[in-house]
Amino acid sequence: MSDKPAKRFASFAIAIPIYRIFDYAIEPGKSGAAGSRYRLPFGQGYKTGLLLEKHDSTSVPGNRIKAAGECLDDEPVLSEHMIRLARWIANYYLQPLGEVLFQCLPGYLRGSKAVKPDRVKYWQAKSIDAGVRDKIERRSPRQFELLVAIERSEAGLNAVQLKAINQGWHGLIRALEEKDAIKWGWLTPTRIDHSDAIIPDLSAEQEQSYSQIKSRSDRFSVHLLDGITGSGKTEVYFRLIQDALSRKQQVIYLVPEIGLTSQLVDRVRKRFGEQFTISHSALTERQRYHAWDRFRRGDVGIMLGTRSSLFSQNDRLGLIVIDEEHDHSYKQEDGIRYHARDVAIKRAQMLDIPILLGSATPSLESLNNCAREHYFYYQLSQRPTGFAPPRIQLIDSKNLQLDSGCSPALLQRIDYHLGQKGQVLLYLNRRGFAPVVMCHECGWQANCAHCDSRLTLHQFLNRLLCHHCGYAQALPGCCGECGNPDIKHYGIGTEQLEQGLKKRFPDYPVLRIDRDVIASRDDLDQRLATLRLGEPCLLIGTQMIAKGHDYPGITMSAILDTDQALFSASYRASERLVQTAFQVSGRSGRGDRQGEAYLQTSFCDHPLMQSIANQSYREIAESITRERKMLGFPPYARVVMFRADALSLDQAIEKLNAIKQCLQASVARHRVKCIGPIPALMTRRIGRYRGQLCLLSQDIRELRNALREAMPEIELIKSTAVVKWVVDVDALDL
Ligand SMILES: [Zn+2]
Ligand SMILES: [Zn+2]
Repeated sequence: MSDKPAKRFASFAIAIPIYRIFDYAIEPGKSGAAGSRYRLPFGQGYKTGLLLEKHDSTSVPGNRIKAAGECLDDEPVLSEHMIRLARWIANYYLQPLGEVLFQCLPGYLRGSKAVKPDRVKYWQAKSIDAGVRDKIERRSPRQFELLVAIERSEAGLNAVQLKAINQGWHGLIRALEEKDAIKWGWLTPTRIDHSDAIIPDLSAEQEQSYSQIKSRSDRFSVHLLDGITGSGKTEVYFRLIQDALSRKQQVIYLVPEIGLTSQLVDRVRKRFGEQFTISHSALTERQRYHAWDRFRRGDVGIMLGTRSSLFSQNDRLGLIVIDEEHDHSYKQEDGIRYHARDVAIKRAQMLDIPILLGSATPSLESLNNCAREHYFYYQLSQRPTGFAPPRIQLIDSKNLQLDSGCSPALLQRIDYHLGQKGQVLLYLNRRGFAPVVMCHECGWQANCAHCDSRLTLHQFLNRLLCHHCGYAQALPGCCGECGNPDIKHYGIGTEQLEQGLKKRFPDYPVLRIDRDVIASRDDLDQRLATLRLGEPCLLIGTQMIAKGHDYPGITMSAILDTDQALFSASYRASERLVQTAFQVSGRSGRGDRQGEAYLQTSFCDHPLMQSIANQSYREIAESITRERKMLGFPPYARVVMFRADALSLDQAIEKLNAIKQCLQASVARHRVKCIGPIPALMTRRIGRYRGQLCLLSQDIRELRNALREAMPEIELIKSTAVVKWVVDVDALDL
């Protein structure tokens, strides 16, 4: 081996939107392994590149080949498996390999920063006076909450864990340090055995699902756990996670979001002690890097995180769990476009390990894969409490005078539940005070200057805001067109609903949870604490409150103002409405009382509303699926969307026509439907005009073949800042 000449060239991937890799000369025998980062001379400057392969020769002429700069890593930052996975993603999603590879790294390592040893600051409890402790408990409940968590943690808590408990942890910790209640130190975390955790008994259904999944866990297999809200899916995940940890394997546990509440984090901690780490977008790049690094080194067994945590790496990965697998946040819609669920399934297949998907409202794609026996299917149809999830009842609001968006019948039900000491959840997926501001004299409407969208009135801010681009302007005193001083607003947002309910139910706390209040005030934890106390109250929120929470005091939930979904141009609107309806209704009645669920609509007779009121999610999903089959839409077809945006619509369409030119022959040969180019649904967004070109086929092989033939030519079409184009494989919308 040693007399074989060392390789003198290597190919590198660079994170730029160009479909190619680059050869450089390397120092024979001295260079790093595949998966290491290098500083590379590129154009006028330098870029960070990732070494893919070494070669004996290169097609770049000798006088043009550049020498690679220094290697930045002592050991590869991407494993061979991750490079293989990235190659699959680049190939399947038609994305440039360099961008995909760097997407697989934590943001902290995408530049040239060196890998830092995992030295994490930890806070531990000191023994303190009962009097001091008492005083903290009485005077500073938020400090006390952290103190208790630290005391319980044995090994102490780090910044990531503290932040999961309270976003404002920094100030609280400083206060506790000043009171000499805690101390900090550098710790390399060690595994703690948490054999004293309380493990609840499984119901017969849970037991059956668990043991069947377990019996198939020694190989690649996809399992869909279809469990009604509150049926205890998490406990089944936990058992399988525990089994994997016992086998000294590691687990990736994906959820749609974590930042909002620490409820799940609390549960995981109670069960698995400090054997887990968290990663989500509310953390800093450095914190996410540390989470990634701890998992990579095997300091923790579980990575609990959102979409991109899927790219956590370790040689002993033994299980992937994807909770709320239907959630659209698993689809990345900017930068590298991929679907985390589908990539996770591919990853499990490459590693020959099981993957578990769970949801109360599974995606039509996953249900279809179960019907075709590609996935194993398990059902949890009961809540352990014995109370069934409430049936959704319709409340007719047609032609009624509404009070802040609520009909008299709805207000009467709210009144009743509060009187019975229940908590009431109202779901309204629209922020602000009112979505329409207009002049009655001339018909002028407040529209965004940069998007094809209306401006929403935010009364507290006294401003009109665009929810797409963030554009803001003061509320004008009179109509900009005709000078009429009497400008009116229509429709209802969470801000108005909150005001109305506060007036109507002055004796009860009204808690509003949406991005506006969370951005402007740091009292989310307090709101959730009020909810946890179980006292009667009203909870208002956007989709933030629809998923994942478990508050046993909620006895009634209501959905307001979703009628626009009935007339949406998106073919997925009905699927989304049904999922939302069942998720929101499922927040109700999880405790020891039967809950109620309402949906207020002006279209009670609409077939979809009738289905929601009278059928199970499975039944509705089946009928939507039949409809899709008739129309030849997903999941019976695959969609590949080319999108372009530019400063004028003509430029965007022109770019798409150039792409269509490349596709024409192969699309015809493989009988793939090609629609467009046409303007996108919301044509102008953030000042740019958007167009789309859609490929649709019921035969994925034909679609892939057509793309394989055309892509080499398409890849040469430049995407610039002036006219940008991207491709979106398995696009969610048409
Ligand atoms: Zn006017
Ligand atoms: Zn805008």
